[in-house]
Amino acid sequence: MTKYDAIIIGAGLGGLVAGAKLAKEGKKILLIEQHNIPGGCATNFKRVGSSMDVGLHALDGMDDGDLKKEIFDELKVFGNVEFAKLPEFYRFVNERFDIVIPDNYKEAEKILISNFPKEKSGIKKFFSTILNYRKELKRMPTTGIKLYLQLPLFPLLYPGIVLTMKKTVEQFLDEITKNDDLKLILAANIGYYHDNPTTMAYSYFAIAQASYYSGGGHYVKGGSQKLSDYFAKFIKDNGGEVLLSHKVIKILTENNKAVGIEYKKMSGDGIDRAYGINIIANAAIPNVVNNLLPKELNAGMKTKINKMEIAHSILSIYLFFKKPVKELGNKYYSTFVANPNVYTLKDVNFHVDHKDRGFTFVDYSQIDSQLAAPGKGVGVITTLDYLDQWKELSETGYKNKKNEVAQIYIKRLNKLIPGIKDQIEYYEVGTPKTIERYTMNPQGAVYGFAQIPSQAGIKRMSQKSSIENLYFASAWTMPGGGFTGAMLSGWFCANKILKQ
Ligand SMILES: Cc1cc2nc3c(=O)[nH]c(=O)nc-3n(C[C@H](O)[C@H](O)[C@H](O)COP(=O)(O)OP(=O)(O)OC[C@H]3O[C@@H](n4cnc5c(N)ncnc54)[C@H](O)[C@@H]3O)c2cc1C
Repeated sequence: MTKYDAIIIGAGLGGLVAGAKLAKEGKKILLIEQHNIPGGCATNFKRVGSSMDVGLHALDGMDDGDLKKEIFDELKVFGNVEFAKLPEFYRFVNERFDIVIPDNYKEAEKILISNFPKEKSGIKKFFSTILNYRKELKRMPTTGIKLYLQLPLFPLLYPGIVLTMKKTVEQFLDEITKNDDLKLILAANIGYYHDNPTTMAYSYFAIAQASYYSGGGHYVKGGSQKLSDYFAKFIKDNGGEVLLSHKVIKILTENNKAVGIEYKKMSGDGIDRAYGINIIANAAIPNVVNNLLPKELNAGMKTKINKMEIAHSILSIYLFFKKPVKELGNKYYSTFVANPNVYTLKDVNFHVDHKDRGFTFVDYSQIDSQLAAPGKGVGVITTLDYLDQWKELSETGYKNKKNEVAQIYIKRLNKLIPGIKDQIEYYEVGTPKTIERYTMNPQGAVYGFAQIPSQAGIKRMSQKSSIENLYFASAWTMPGGGFTGAMLSGWFCANKILKQ
């Protein structure tokens, strides 16, 4: 029987990048995915002749300060997958403001100072602090002898990182300015990372915002499926096996070591086994611990993870238009519409009724997204959401709620872009239940464990688990969620295995 160097459970971006790097280094890989396409959250689906991205709105950075660029270089992503640069970072709209934030810090600083001249020093401090944070992080060793030697000096060498480990976004912005409108604008896209600025870790906010302000935002031409398909092909081209529509049901262990898996076809009953030197779970950590590991081995990790907070989920109203939305006068790629009752960061709340909940509209016609059929348009309304608001509904109740909620947001979008509702040819709603079903992430979580200070940085779970030869590569580990976080996790995981 073949013994693999690594068996990977799940073809989300973390699993795909780990598999691609290991395959490139000559390791024998078996990657198993329960869905019939690779990608997890990074997938597309087709309706009425157009393609729709399940998840990707914006990919941060890709400038020289971004490790992702090195990963893409090494895995030959550039040249095989095309990216479109987004025209701006975001547009923020509420009852008092309608402001467009450029995707580079110099321009953004100028626009913000012209809108808030009295806050000039705070605005400058905002950018210098987050940009320095990113630079420090890039300098900081994460493994090896250098790390060991520098450890006692960390507070001196990396004060921007070490001294802010417990800080929240709200605390950081309170130090920057007293102006609540400015704080709301600076954190307008908080939903990219977490659902609450008063509990979100400053570290995640700083690194991701600095990445957008340094390299801008990007979109994968043709949709995130192109990137996922590319990684899956890369694994196969480098001698690996990618098995779709198969689900891993058990991790096999011997003497406290992970040694293999049991898996089955999604449409069949027969159970197969495969053996590997390393087992990498891209699958959600809570599922690995609670469902895939034998009871006698999961106790330690179970106690730890059951205390951890799981991130929010997302509601998407996927819109297929009769024509490109830019022909209706819309000029922006991402528009963040704030809840009208939000005056301070403390008011930001995604647990409110849909008629008051903040939402984002992404207009893919503003870029060469290569999603819509010729002459047509595609876009998506998204907001943050929670599985418990959907899971107990009957089949009809679920269907009705999807339509009711879609109508609320379409009406709100029509206020923003008059006439847009008459241009909708077809729409479909993706709920936290949809995400849970297709990715198997508990609570339909899109960023794994919530990105709060007690679960950030080194406090987040590492790629190496407490069980020998069992690794994690996903949004659930450090560094965190999102396309970037998941890909970095896969990369760190592969490198840890290669170093062994
Ligand atoms: C609607 C939406 C919008 C988003 N927008 C953005 C954005 O604009 N920018 C951004 O950076 N991020 C965005 N994200 C978040 C980002 O997509 C995710 O954080 C990231 O892709 C998660 O990757 P992952 O590697 O953790 O795996 P996941 O995508 O969670 O995939 C895990 C995979 O494992 C498989 N699996 C699980 N268990 C098993 C098993 N037992 N056997 C076999 N297979 C299994 C699943 O089927 C799945 O394919 C968005 C996500 C969603 C859902």
